[in-house]
Amino acid sequence: MNLNMGNEPAARQLEKEVEPFLEHVLPLRSGHGDARWSTRRFLRVMKFGGTSVGDAACIRKVIEIIRRGSAESDLVVVVSAMSGVTNQLIETATQSEAGDRGCATKILEDLRAQHDTALKALIHPGPERDRIARKIRELFEQCERWCASTAVLGQLTPQMRDSISSLGERLSAPLVAVALAAQGVASEAVDATQLVVTDGYHGAADPKMDLTRERCEARLRPLLQQGVIPIVTGFIGATEDGVLTTLGRGGSDYSATILGAALEADEVTIWTDVDGMLTADPHLVPSASTIPEISYREAAELAYFGAKVLHPKTLYPVMQKRIPVWIRNTFASEKAGTKITPGGHAASVGAKALTAVSEAALITLGGPVLSGVPDVVGRALAAAASVRTDVLMSCHSPSCNHVCLAVAAASAQKTVEALRREFARDAKHDGAEHVTVDSTVAILTVVGHNLHLVRGIVGRAVDELSRENVNVIATAHGSMERNASFVVARKDIQTALVTTHREFQLCVLNLPQESRSEAQAL
Ligand code: ASP
Ligand code: MG
Repeated sequence: MNLNMGNEPAARQLEKEVEPFLEHVLPLRSGHGDARWSTRRFLRVMKFGGTSVGDAACIRKVIEIIRRGSAESDLVVVVSAMSGVTNQLIETATQSEAGDRGCATKILEDLRAQHDTALKALIHPGPERDRIARKIRELFEQCERWCASTAVLGQLTPQMRDSISSLGERLSAPLVAVALAAQGVASEAVDATQLVVTDGYHGAADPKMDLTRERCEARLRPLLQQGVIPIVTGFIGATEDGVLTTLGRGGSDYSATILGAALEADEVTIWTDVDGMLTADPHLVPSASTIPEISYREAAELAYFGAKVLHPKTLYPVMQKRIPVWIRNTFASEKAGTKITPGGHAASVGAKALTAVSEAALITLGGPVLSGVPDVVGRALAAAASVRTDVLMSCHSPSCNHVCLAVAAASAQKTVEALRREFARDAKHDGAEHVTVDSTVAILTVVGHNLHLVRGIVGRAVDELSRENVNVIATAHGSMERNASFVVARKDIQTALVTTHREFQLCVLNLPQESRSEAQAL
């Protein structure tokens, strides 16, 4: 099958997602004295991911980065849970629901030991260490109670799942704050439930920016004015009524830009364990290289189509305010990293990077049973949106009312259920299945700028792939400005990435100009 798909969903999604962050009223900034704004120091939000706070040795590196950064500018720090902790907490919640209290308790004990070990390595014995040790103990006791009630009910509500999985950030923030204070850097742990006001969509909440802005001004600005660095829990927020929510897995990046936009920061830096945004996943493509500068839109496309370095929603809050976002490596802080800016690198036209959703699914809806049913495409996309599935590609063949949606495999089940519900009435007279799934595919996406100006980009990729015996099941290139996607069998994804990376000379294209001409001359 060689379908030709329209790839508009990504672009449409982008417009839709940015909308809530557009300010339709006068910015709150006008309420503040001009003097204060004109004398304000450079403000930078720094976010540290799970591996950056993975143990005491890593946290020491983080402290050094914060200490140096605080000499240059005001800082707001956002932290993730220590690496692996959120996964373990979700496992605890799942085991509790299944009634296995023993397993849940064991995981919690191990996690507690991990945090106690880090605390002891970072802080000398004394009242401060005792205070944080007490806090850690209280948080685990609370979590035990949540797990116990989940086990009794035999049911894990989305709200409870959020509460249990939020523990990691609520532990790491006080740990980093006390470690900083011990090094003489004034800091205070702040729970993001006091700052980030969200809707009530547990597991993938979105912020209400006006309320968030007010809370950040009230809670964080005074700390900044006193020279105290707030250490904020990433990943979590709360509804207006104070019910804890989470922003989705990997959501601490999103927390950082939400706070950056709310405080009108000058810059956001995401500190992680890779050198920046790369031209491809280096585990799959060894010649992948760091991209020095990339536009918001290109970076958002990369994140949307599976690049794990950024949470897909990260850039939405900062786009309108044109706040630059850096991605840098905590473990190689001398490297410049990637700068994400409104326009990217001015001179760049063409393919810039590859990304892949290795675990994807192709959902097909329709056939004779839906013939004559109006607006199948619109209803299918709305059904997917209703369960917050990101549709990576979509196509429609009008002659037989066939709709094909490509989604991440993890979203396939809930999307299929939503589609079955939506079309149940239309299909009720027919026993035949009207929704089917192929979960053995992967999607490769080429991201760049003005791709339509590069001659034969899709043809070149398909030709090269077929030379390497990779069958392209479907392609999608919409208006071809920013992305072109290819569906292949999952087993072929690495070959497909290596081949396309070579064909578009991506390791050469992203080098600085001088070294590029040398490399191309070789
Ligand atoms: N700790 C959360 C997670 O693992 C959020 C994050 O790390 O950004 O998903
Ligand atoms: Mg992360």
